[in-house]
Amino acid sequence: MRLIWEEFLNILKQEVGSHVVETWFKAVVLEQWDQKSQTVYLVMPNGFVSNWIQEHYLTLIKTHLSRLLQVETLKVVCAGKNNSTNSSTPLIQPASLYSEQKNVSQTSHHLTQNSKASSSQSTVSLVPLTRRHYKAELLKLNAQYTFNSFVVGPTNELAHAAAIAVSQNLGKVYNPLFIYGGTGLGKTHLLHAIGNEITKKNPQATIFYETSDSFINEFVNAIRLDKTRQFRDKYQKVDLLLLDDIQFFSHKEQTQETFFHIFDSLFGQHKQVVFSSDTLPHHILGLQNRLQSRLQSGLVADVQMPTVEMKMAIVKKKALLHNLTFDDNVARFIAEFPTSSIRELEGHLIRLSAFSSLANEPITVEMAKKVLICTKSSKQRLLSLEEVLKAVSKCCHVSIADLRSKKRTKSIVLGRQIAFYVMKKCTPHSLQIIGQFMGGKDHTTVLHAISKIEHLIQKNREIGITIETIQKTFAH
Ligand code: ADP
Ligand code: MG
Repeated sequence: MRLIWEEFLNILKQEVGSHVVETWFKAVVLEQWDQKSQTVYLVMPNGFVSNWIQEHYLTLIKTHLSRLLQVETLKVVCAGKNNSTNSSTPLIQPASLYSEQKNVSQTSHHLTQNSKASSSQSTVSLVPLTRRHYKAELLKLNAQYTFNSFVVGPTNELAHAAAIAVSQNLGKVYNPLFIYGGTGLGKTHLLHAIGNEITKKNPQATIFYETSDSFINEFVNAIRLDKTRQFRDKYQKVDLLLLDDIQFFSHKEQTQETFFHIFDSLFGQHKQVVFSSDTLPHHILGLQNRLQSRLQSGLVADVQMPTVEMKMAIVKKKALLHNLTFDDNVARFIAEFPTSSIRELEGHLIRLSAFSSLANEPITVEMAKKVLICTKSSKQRLLSLEEVLKAVSKCCHVSIADLRSKKRTKSIVLGRQIAFYVMKKCTPHSLQIIGQFMGGKDHTTVLHAISKIEHLIQKNREIGITIETIQKTFAH
């Protein structure tokens, strides 16, 4: 159970950011799993956290835990700390928690919308991933990621305009659309916004939203079960394919081969495909040339770090979404506070809101200063994989390309191992993501490298100094 919970937290970190996980989930324990009744019992540190989690993260908990536990309908019971695990008095009765899944059996395994599913929350966002669904790898669209909630400015206007154009002329302009940029800068938001827009305009359209990670997993399963044909056929009926984080296809030759044919068939039928990636197509290592040229054959648009004005607008939009009120001075303070992504910016807002609820005080600039500055100094800032890679490359005098390559030269291998170590320590990413980012390495390779460095640090002072030097480059 502990491992399942850890894995769940890892997934959650990637979806909502480590600030959220730190703030809300750190003290939560997966106490018990009753397979017979398909119920998990979560022990909450207090009622406030319990209510918050249920209000904001229940769907995510169900989506991912049911997948990890391989059940169709998961019930979640949140109990207070002092209640026994078989809690006769859970803070919330399970019935109220899973009532939203009552339509599970009717839910189609893909995202074809029926006309009944038109109200915002009850549409795709509640499609649960069951084992059957997981095989189809169709993830929900987040109903909150719309064009309306997306702030546009000079750093993302091309990507935004292209996304709008695509959703108005599916398959006719900018096909494929390729959106790239650093983590937490709005790529997934834009992909979902296209999906949500099409859902609204054409409920009959068949939309697949998938992360490349899940595409790969499903493909591997299809090979294992000798069902690659069915796997490919499933894409025949798609009108819009949204494929998130395509950089994970790096060095996955067989996946690329299959995807290439899927893409060509969709493209031939004028079906729209939208990709996101953390880097340009030709910077994705280990990508077949022909696939690379397909990826850049439509429109390639980037998203960059927003300006302070955009950040301020984002803070205001998100505050509205979370029902928070504060004046413009607070919004400005948060917007001007150093951050490396919009996800981090949102994390600050969530921390502030938690603090204000717990202290039962309105959010002021003084409070924001106290909470954010204290967060910053008491905890090391979470870094992006790109930042670490650059710093390691500089300090170890090994090029970025070599670090991500398969070269086995001693100095390159050591640099790469140091990169794995610092990435695990200073970024919120899982071993698997780190491995993929570093040129498609297996997560066991990453794990091995980390323990190697941990071992070396004990014996070799120089390694420790190098790592400290790397970390110092991140201090403001
Ligand atoms: P990425 O996929 O690039 O890593 P996401 O799309 O997941 O990033 O964005 C991270 C968070 O930031 C999400 O909550 C998203 O809603 C928010 N966000 C990103 N860009 C914008 C924007 N321009 N306007 C409003 N919110 C944004
Ligand atoms: Mg994303």
